[in-house]
Amino acid sequence: KMSSLEPREDHRICVCVRKRPLNERETTMKDLDIITIPSHNVVMVHESKQKVDLTRYLENQTFCFDHAFDHTASNELVYQFTARPLVESIFRKGMATCFAYGQTGSGKTHTMGGAFSGKAQDCSKGIYALVAQDVFLLLRTPAYEKLELKVYGTFFEIYGGKVYDLLNWKKKLQVLEDGNQQVQVVGLQEQEVGCVEEVLNLVELGNSCRTSGQTSVNAHSSRSHAVFQLILKAGGKLHGKFSLVDLAGNERGADTAKATRKRQLEGAEINKSLLALKECIRALGKNKSHTPFRASKLTQVLRDSFIGQNSYTCMIATISPGMTSCENTLNTLRYANRVK
Ligand code: ADP
Ligand code: MG
Repeated sequence: KMSSLEPREDHRICVCVRKRPLNERETTMKDLDIITIPSHNVVMVHESKQKVDLTRYLENQTFCFDHAFDHTASNELVYQFTARPLVESIFRKGMATCFAYGQTGSGKTHTMGGAFSGKAQDCSKGIYALVAQDVFLLLRTPAYEKLELKVYGTFFEIYGGKVYDLLNWKKKLQVLEDGNQQVQVVGLQEQEVGCVEEVLNLVELGNSCRTSGQTSVNAHSSRSHAVFQLILKAGGKLHGKFSLVDLAGNERGADTAKATRKRQLEGAEINKSLLALKECIRALGKNKSHTPFRASKLTQVLRDSFIGQNSYTCMIATISPGMTSCENTLNTLRYANRVK
């Protein structure tokens, strides 16, 4: 029964970690798996360090989260403990948000959009699809049927502090704030969807728009935030909203000296938005009256999700298992740790 999984009032933020398996490249280069998940909510990093006399030793660091998933966990399992408990809240006029946060290549898009087989992505197995499935199930239950809700999907990208509509050929959109601090993405396509298949079609359309014109798969998409939303409306008015966010890669490669000016600016913008995100989620968790949502376009656009008594957030921090990713992994774990 779903309602038993509903979040408690004092439990508005859930932070989880997901470790992916070593990939072929890492296995070939004999990269070592330095991450263990000794219990359902603990992550350990076993970092190999060198003493002055050049002998090596392991330095172990332990982090605790709401849940920790090892490399054998399926998207379905991760979903059950992260986004699923929030689905029902949007039927009760809530705002739910799920973020995938982590280094490029750690599994954010795999988690949100679905597993890849070769270059194609099976989006029926990602959290976007799993949320959609449960939204349509709940829509047809006696408790919510009578609300006569309609479901709409939006899909947009935030890159360099600008918003681009992925359902409308990457049209650049303006973000406006009215006198009541309501934030609006002007002209954003809201497509009505009547079933899961229609949602998957939207996801596919958006994905094809996201990567079009790119020579390397990770080139652009890893430096933009992708926001997919399912919106419930009653009588044309907003009822509830679930935002699913595939965040830009959090790696700090952009500040190295060899990075181009463009990369540096991109990196600075990403950094700014991820810091703002952390502060906004923290403010939500601590019920603070002030939420610094204007500090970045990402947090401004998601304002509704950080404000109000009926907002719930989960973050899935994805990590690579390899020793070569150690520094990025530790940064991800420290960030996720501080969100709560
Ligand atoms: P990101 O979006 O964080 O840059 P991706 O989701 O694109 O990373 O994942 C990078 C690669 O690793 C993809 O080929 C993906 O299929 C694979 N991968 C990621 N997470 C997992 C996982 N949990 N199990 C199996 N393969 C995974
Ligand atoms: Mg990705």
